Order: sequence, then structure tokens, then C-alpha cells
Amino acid sequence: MQSFPMLINGELVQGNRSLNVINPATEEVFQQITCADESQFEQAIGAAKAAFPQWQTVDMQTRRDNLNKLADAIEAQTGVFAELLTQEQGKPLAESTAEVGFSCAFIRYFAQSELPIETYQDDETSKIELHRKPLGVVAGVVPWNFPLMIGCFKLAPAVLAGNTFILKPPATTPLCVLKLADICQQIFPKGVVNIITDNNDLGHILSAHPDVAKVAFTGSTPTGKKIMSAASGTLKRLTLELGGNDAGIVLPDVDPKKIAPAIFATAFMNCGQVCIALKRLYVHEDIYDALVLELSELANNASVGNGLEEGVTFGPIQNKAQFIKVQEYLADAKENGVIAAGGEVLDGPGFFMRPTIVRDVTDGCKVVDEEPFGPILPVIKYKTIDDAVERANNSVFGLGGSVWSNDLDKAYDVAKRLECGTSWINQHLNFGPTVPFGGAKESGIGVEFAQEGLLEYTQVHVINIAKQTF
Ligand code: NAD
Repeated sequence: MQSFPMLINGELVQGNRSLNVINPATEEVFQQITCADESQFEQAIGAAKAAFPQWQTVDMQTRRDNLNKLADAIEAQTGVFAELLTQEQGKPLAESTAEVGFSCAFIRYFAQSELPIETYQDDETSKIELHRKPLGVVAGVVPWNFPLMIGCFKLAPAVLAGNTFILKPPATTPLCVLKLADICQQIFPKGVVNIITDNNDLGHILSAHPDVAKVAFTGSTPTGKKIMSAASGTLKRLTLELGGNDAGIVLPDVDPKKIAPAIFATAFMNCGQVCIALKRLYVHEDIYDALVLELSELANNASVGNGLEEGVTFGPIQNKAQFIKVQEYLADAKENGVIAAGGEVLDGPGFFMRPTIVRDVTDGCKVVDEEPFGPILPVIKYKTIDDAVERANNSVFGLGGSVWSNDLDKAYDVAKRLECGTSWINQHLNFGPTVPFGGAKESGIGVEFAQEGLLEYTQVHVINIAKQTF
């Protein structure tokens, strides 16, 4: 057992409560750690508030240097972070290593970003400037599917813009985020970055607190709604990156054999536990059987097991509650469709399920209309493109969507009609620090990444000067 202290006001501290972290591949408690109680949430908020007046005056270059040091320190321990991530989250080691690399890439992207003063008017009579000021204390609240990367892509723009920050990982995957505590302690002045964890029960303190100016949240839509409601009392700024039920539409002109691996990878990465995974696949009737067959073959060839073992391509589902939830979607799939591949939960220990392809299923049942957030892909037959687009858009979610075709013009026309934050063509799930990312409808509010994402951590401040003397 290691100690995973939190970081509050520049001090590495143990929490006043205890928390067991379970390895989802073994179901064993592999770390017993501590977590914060309400008084420690208050201390972290107080520390961030106290550090803000000084931090907002620190020059950009110093903030950049701090972020680059953070990326360098994480990168130097890539192997340690990756192994820990696989143990707590379950994903195969190669995916964990990629997540560590992505975390560093996001930090470095924001470390080179600018917040220039924009001049709107400058003539003989007046000068009008738009400045971007920090908001104050920002809280980053993170889910369990990519805890390290999501933590890093909130921390970096927040502190670069001059805010102070509180990072809160989820209770089932707190370790990689807590491992940032001693790194951040050595880099940032006290109180600028605080890292606290809970038992998934104290996040509401951050959303309601008058001294927190913004919550940058990634997680489920129901929790996003609770945060929005709690934040209304103080008109807090919010970025909400929420659930999705992304549709992919496959036109009849593609070769099922050639396209199946790309579709399979984007539906099943991280065991399907990705907000922007492809979660409903609409396939034209001409190639339906052939594509289902190809996808099923890929599912049958998947190697399911402990992510630390070589050759494993599918780890466990991250936690027991989610494992139970996914089995409910599996039962619904069996009732409303035909299992073409997978469909089995493996004998324990471990929350394992084989990747599952569901055929002869259509809209109007849970497994198609809702977000299973697990290794299960319903494949739906369509006749006309208008029908496919209508069904794809018939969702409360609107995170991403994709169109697959050899005719790029035709695909582009379809992509434009999708009601979502990102439409991909001949790919899905492709994201990175330089491309703005956000959801439509109940998939979220606001944008992350790129300059648009950075600006969401700032307050517009106009200085309007009349060039006259009295
Ligand atoms: P969740 O909403 O249960 O929890 C996310 C975080 O919110 C955790 O840290 C939790 O402790 C905290 N939390 C819980 N209740 C809170 C409250 N009342 N106030 C403040 N914080 C609170 O989500 P999850 O189960 O960890 O993640 C899975 C969900 O996240 C899926 O729906 C998935 O689609 C979504 N997700 C979305 C994105 C995106 O960018 N859109 C990315 C990853 C995951």
C-alpha cells in the first residue's frame, strides 16, 4: 500500500475519511487511501481563494513554465502512471500509456497558448480594448473513464488563465490524480492547485459554494443537471461535458471488410466507456449483413482480461455499479435484438464482459436510445438516408456523430445535418487539444480545448476609453 495524500494549501495532507480503491480486474482492494470530509473541502476552497489575488498577477511566462514542468514531471514517470491507471481504471496498459501521453500533450498545448488584449477600436476619439481576466477559484470535477487526462485538460487552461484550481477525481479512480499532488506541490505556489478526493458524495459543495467562480465538469448528464441547479444560486460559470449516444451512419458504397476495424475501434475503445464512442450504428440494408459479420469477427477475436497482461485488448468494466448497469442493457439487447457476437459476462473475479454486437434491433429500446457506456454496440438497419438522419437526431444527446462513405461530398451533406457538437467523416472519436470540443442538447454546455476552451476560463473585461481632455 502506498500513501496517496491530497494537496491543500501547499501541504500534502491525509483526508479525515478512508476510501478503498478496487482493482476492477481482480475485485480486490488494492489501495486503502484517505479522502476529504466537508471541512477539508472548505479548506481547499479557502486556500484557492487566498492564493488567487497573487496568482492572477503572476506573469504568463511563469505560468507557462510551471505547466511545462508539470508535463515534464508526468512524462518522466509515464510507466508508473500508466501501470497505476490500468490498476485503478482497468484499461489495457497501451491505452493507459496513451492517456499519460495525451495528458502531457494537453498541458503543453495550453502552456503555449496566448490571451492577447484585443483592440476593437482605436482612432482619434476612442480606444476600446477587450481583456481576458481570470474568474477566481475554478473547480475541476472528473469522471472515472479518463481521470488523469480529463484532470489535466481542466487544470492547464484554468491556471494558465490566472485562476486558482481545485481538482476532484471520482471515488473509484482517484489514484493517478492524487499522484499529481506531490508533483504540483513542488511546482505551484501554495493554494494555486489543490487536489482533494471524496466518496462521490461531496461534489455539491463545490457547485454551490459562493467562493467557487466556475465548475468545469465532465461526467453524466444527471450529475450535470444537479451541478447546474446547485450553481444557480451564485450564477457560477459552468462547462458541462456530459453523456452522449453518438450515432454512426454507414452509406452503402463502402467495403464492409475494410471499414469494420475503424468502426470497431471507435465503438469499443476503453471497453466502450468513452463519452464520444460510437454507440449506435445505422447501416444501409445493402451491406448490413456483411458489416455485422465483420464486426462480429472482430468482437470474437478480442482478448478480454487484466489490462496489465500482454496481448489483452479489452480490460474490465471500471466498477461494479457500471458492470451491473451494462448487464441491464445486455438483457434489453437480448429481448429486443439478436446477439451476433459476445453477449456473455465472464466468470469472476473481475468485471469482465465480452464485446457485444447486437443485430436486428431498432430504435425505441434502452440499448439503442440510452447510453450503455460499456462494450455493447447495437447495429440498426436503414433504407433511406433521410430516415437514418432522423433517427440519429432523435435523441436528447448530441455529443458526436459520424458518416462513413467513399463519396466525401455526400458524406459531408449528411454530416452537416447531424445535431451534435462534432460530426466526423470516415472516423469517430478523433479529438485533441487543438480542436474545440463540446456537446449539443443534453450532452453539455460550453466548449473545451483550443482557444475557445481556454476563453471559457476567463471573464471578458472591456476597457472603453474616450480620448478627450477636460
Ligand atoms: P458521474 O456524473 O457519476 O461523476 C462524475 C464526477 O462528478 C465524479 O467526480 C463525482 O464524484 C462527481 N459528482 C457526483 N455527484 C456530484 C454532484 N452532485 N455535484 C458535483 N459533483 C458530483 O459520471 P461518471 O459515472 O464518473 O462518468 C460516466 C459519465 O460521464 C458518462 O455518462 C459519460 O458519457 C460521461 N462523460 C462525458 C464526457 C464528455 O466529455 N462529454 C467525458 C467522459 C465521460
